[in-house]
Amino acid sequence: MRVRRIGVLTSGGDAPGMNAAVRAVVRTALDKDALVFAIYEGYRGMVQGGDRIRPMNWQSVGGILHQGGTVIGTARCAEFRERNGRLQAVRNLLSHGIDNLVVIGGDGSLTGAQVLNEEWPELVAELVTRGEIAPETAERHPHLTVVGLVGSIDNDMYGTDISIGADTALHRITDAIDAITSTAASHQRSFVVEVMGRHCGYLALMGAMASGADWVLIPENPPNLDDWEDKMCQVLRKGREIGRRDSIVVVAEGAQDRYGNPITCHYVRQVLEERLGEDTRVTILGHVQRGGSPSAFDRNLSTLLGAAAVETILSGEIDGQAYLLGIRNNTIKRTPLAECLQRTHEVNEAVRNGEYEKAMAMRSASFEESFRTVRTLVRALPHEPEPGQQSLRIAVLTAGGPAPGMNTAVRAAVRLAVDKGHQMLGVYNGFKGLVDGEIVPLDWMSVNGWAHLGGSQLGTNRHIPRNSDFYAIARNLEEHNIQGLLMVGGWSGYEAVLELHKRRDIFPAFNIPMVCLPATIDNDLPCAELSVGADTALNSIVGAVDKIKQSAVAARRVFVVEVMGRRCGYLALMSALATGAERVYLHEEGVTLNDLLVDLKELIKGFKRGKQLGLIIRSEGANDTYTTDFIASLLKEEGGDFFTVRQAILGHLQQGGNPTPFDRIMATRYAAKCVEYLEEQIGRPDAVSACIGLVAGETRFTPLAELPQLMDWENGRPKQEWWLNLRPVARIMAQPAPHSRAEVEG
Ligand code: ADP
Repeated sequence: MRVRRIGVLTSGGDAPGMNAAVRAVVRTALDKDALVFAIYEGYRGMVQGGDRIRPMNWQSVGGILHQGGTVIGTARCAEFRERNGRLQAVRNLLSHGIDNLVVIGGDGSLTGAQVLNEEWPELVAELVTRGEIAPETAERHPHLTVVGLVGSIDNDMYGTDISIGADTALHRITDAIDAITSTAASHQRSFVVEVMGRHCGYLALMGAMASGADWVLIPENPPNLDDWEDKMCQVLRKGREIGRRDSIVVVAEGAQDRYGNPITCHYVRQVLEERLGEDTRVTILGHVQRGGSPSAFDRNLSTLLGAAAVETILSGEIDGQAYLLGIRNNTIKRTPLAECLQRTHEVNEAVRNGEYEKAMAMRSASFEESFRTVRTLVRALPHEPEPGQQSLRIAVLTAGGPAPGMNTAVRAAVRLAVDKGHQMLGVYNGFKGLVDGEIVPLDWMSVNGWAHLGGSQLGTNRHIPRNSDFYAIARNLEEHNIQGLLMVGGWSGYEAVLELHKRRDIFPAFNIPMVCLPATIDNDLPCAELSVGADTALNSIVGAVDKIKQSAVAARRVFVVEVMGRRCGYLALMSALATGAERVYLHEEGVTLNDLLVDLKELIKGFKRGKQLGLIIRSEGANDTYTTDFIASLLKEEGGDFFTVRQAILGHLQQGGNPTPFDRIMATRYAAKCVEYLEEQIGRPDAVSACIGLVAGETRFTPLAELPQLMDWENGRPKQEWWLNLRPVARIMAQPAPHSRAEVEG
């Protein structure tokens, strides 16, 4: 079979994570014996040809994973919009025998890729007619295969839940709003913050949700009142009256009123100053949102998509066609590129034509749902209960190790439930507090400012009820007339809920619907592919490892870094993927002396060839005998003059910190669903207690009765761990450069 030749380019606006995607495309291609070429400066390089199209080798993409922007450059190219420009592009691609492309860019770049895919046969024929290529060349390359990856911070494309770069942009936005909130609160000021998004309000909406902002304006959903300014001012005024010390209004670049007139941040400021008499400042975040090192999520998303792009091309299943690869509910999905472009353009068209309901419906279901949630959360006060409205008494507690995002979940649950007329009761100190009766009513303002706080304001611990605890808990539940329970927490929280659930025949008070919301940095829970807190921990690890790596620029050094997770290797594997570690030790795979010896030899070989830095990540529970200390000592003893060794046990910094936007958004969404679930279940004779989580591409409630057989009790992790499937990609990325590959010198 002939060797495939793949070209990769980044185009349009740059986005953090593009480098990780390019790295994954290059290394996966080389690993699978394909030839891979970088097309520098996007379509401009394709049209110009010459040294703008260069073969890549293993090292060409070394050391770029943590860098923002794109090292192969990006540009806008007017010539490529013309047929003649594309004719030059085809000639240049064919001069290298390239007839497969991975295009990483936004709507415009992917439109260009679609056009090229469609026109390829006629452009090739024209080149033959002009005598610019031989007829045999044309025969060998009858069509162009295209895989598009959405690289754009705006997240405005159909076909993927999230684009490469959007998560990092949300990091910048929430960091900025958190910082602004603290200064605004000190001076009792109002701030208007403008975020990017000309057609798409994703960043503004999610930024507002994650930061607990007080008002948000997006293009797809203009305020439906003529005097929306008055409504906004009323809410903000009332917020001040009940004790908010600041007002933050988030405005998307493309925000507009319902007649299509732009709503600028300066206009909003003027309104606030005139109508509220408030000292108001404007912050336009601008290009800061595009810049900086990619988040752990963006690095891993890009790596997995880049690898999948090459695998899709090499599978031969889409020869001559154009597809978009994206992620839906944590699963990689491919969709014809033409369909994605068409649907994206339809939404933009709907926004332009003022068909806002249609536009909202055409964005993903979660977009509309998030908008509704944010609209409730920004209220100054809950709705007045309607006559006859049922009022339920729901308790909420946090349990297990601290996980960033617990407060976000509790805040959202309290506000969303209180807004529906329910009474929320906060249980302090987890199940210990439920035994001791530390139960207090929580109202709208008791959770004010909790959205961005790490740790748990309610307090959390690993207490699991035993013996007489059950009587005490039953008595407290009855005394407070608790009708439903929301537990936000990790493994021991789940265990505690299961203990109560098991005894519901003995203690009638336990016969209430209970729901578990997964919150643990370890990500070791059954029926929840992702838990709240894990993304924050992952980012803390990745930030620390980036710094550790930088500390060793000149020295020949191996670092052994230990990360948390007990016997669940999620954090270890995902941080290895995001930092480019060459080896990761997991309990799931086991560690043998032979493994250590093989790895030692590989390291020595690498350093002999000029390697400067080695990075090994070890999950804390990987092996009881081969501890981090043991491994570091072994390498030190045997590494001789080739390298020095340092170990870093990252410890509790992994549990701390404010939650990332990803964790805040997941916590808020899950809390909203849990409140709805409890409302449905309370009072039903056949009420089912359950846990929420993402399972095989769907967020669902799994009945508690099904949990015990899905849990590996001995090792404290689920029996099935989806992320173990990512090991082959991690291995390919981390291996030393393969030698016998079809690599081209250059
Ligand atoms: P983005 O990819 O971020 O949306 P642009 O819209 O600027 O960025 O598009 C990037 C490049 O893609 C353009 O400079 C142009 O070369 C190419 N392109 C965009 N639209 C088309 C089109 N309709 N036909 C051909 N090429 C296009």
